[in-house]
Amino acid sequence: MQFIDLRKAELGEGFMVGRALPTRERRLVGAWCFLDHLGPVKLRGHDGMHVDAHPHTCLQTFTWMMEGEILHRDSLGSDQVVRPGQVNLMTAGRGIAHTEDSLQGEQLHAAQLWIALPAEQADIDPAFDHYPELPMWSQDGIDCTLLAGAFGGRQAPTRVYSPLVGLDLHTSAGGQTRLPLRPDFEYGLLPLSGELRINEVDMDISRFVYLEPGRESLDLALPAGGRCLLIGGEPFPGTISMWWNFVGHTREYINQAYHDWQAGSARFPAVPDARLRMDSPRPAWLPSEPAAT
Ligand code: MN
Repeated sequence: MQFIDLRKAELGEGFMVGRALPTRERRLVGAWCFLDHLGPVKLRGHDGMHVDAHPHTCLQTFTWMMEGEILHRDSLGSDQVVRPGQVNLMTAGRGIAHTEDSLQGEQLHAAQLWIALPAEQADIDPAFDHYPELPMWSQDGIDCTLLAGAFGGRQAPTRVYSPLVGLDLHTSAGGQTRLPLRPDFEYGLLPLSGELRINEVDMDISRFVYLEPGRESLDLALPAGGRCLLIGGEPFPGTISMWWNFVGHTREYINQAYHDWQAGSARFPAVPDARLRMDSPRPAWLPSEPAAT
């Protein structure tokens, strides 16, 4: 097991999140390549989360809502609120742009993940899917929701392109259970609320734990009100590059996406009703532009 401290990151203006992936220690868990823990944050007297129009490539954004509501709008014309217990899944493929805004409510609590697309799917058509209902069951006092992939004979409806799994576990009264794992998968577990025990080790929301392939089970104990997110998948074939909101299998692919976004190319149509369009930072590996004379 590898324990990784979450790092603080800013998402939209002044909205801080805990980032579990990517970190210096670990970039991927299966095809999962990004994991932000948003909140829980009280929205009274808080502006909430507002992210202006920005592009994505070669990935899927996966939003899992626990408290509050987020409005998603994208360059396909999608306009969809995601509520607790639901998933918004945006497939960027060759290119998409979107905005995200939290709506008024008491509290906001969500997990936002990215799934890297395999090289064969890097340039598929962009798509957006909303999943209002997901498979749910209880075991040993713990309520489980299957967000992606297959687990324990159940199958989530979410559209994914790699062998992977995502599972939310929470309990009001507390519970402990043994979860079956696939030895060919690697896994990551993120505490979302409360202090929990994983294989007899204490964890809280400040840390993420990575589990290498080869395991057949995981022992988990959650306190009353405890919650965590289990992700996993087959180790991703090859390597990916990431820069800002772009994923690609080569730096050349990302350079092109950067130039296309900055030039306002039709690859990234406008998002209806967007306030502002974010500027991409120049990839650090590109030589700097010649100074204007
Ligand atoms: Mn985004």
